[in-house]
Amino acid sequence: MENRIDRIKKQLHAQSYKLTPQREATVRVLLEHEEDHLSAEDVYLLVKEKSPEIGLATVYRTLELLNELEVVDKINFGDGVSRYDLRKEGAAHFHHHLVCIECGAVDEIQEDLLGDVEKVVERNWNFQIKDHRLTFHGICHRCNNKSDPEKKEEKTEEKGSKTKIR
Ligand SMILES: [Zn+2]
Ligand SMILES: [Zn+2]
Ligand SMILES: [Zn+2]
Repeated sequence: MENRIDRIKKQLHAQSYKLTPQREATVRVLLEHEEDHLSAEDVYLLVKEKSPEIGLATVYRTLELLNELEVVDKINFGDGVSRYDLRKEGAAHFHHHLVCIECGAVDEIQEDLLGDVEKVVERNWNFQIKDHRLTFHGICHRCNNKSDPEKKEEKTEEKGSKTKIR
């Protein structure tokens, strides 16, 4: 964790920004919840637990700065909420997401898998790819394993009200 923070600090310095205590508190929350997909509000509530003096506006500005510097990626899973996702170190492109339409869980695929598709797009559209967003919507392995058909019917009734992002 300390090494990660050190490298992020260097990334900021390279662009003439300082890792102020407020920014560091935000970065720590992101690192502690690396596998989550937190909204600005979520991050703020977690920062507040340890540093109650830091306001939502500061957290929000920090997240936007980190996004600009490509430390985090901003993603929206279709529920209208922007979420901040730490970019994996050394990854050329943003990782992919599997969003479960039953339980709302979000899983990640770290492998790019798009090499061939990217080649076709670059060639046929003369388009230089810098990054991409890929979200699959479907039913996760956990929900697939719940084989009880009655349970499944109850579940589909509640569809649409699920916003749980793990
Ligand atoms: Zn992610
Ligand atoms: Zn790619
Ligand atoms: Zn599921």
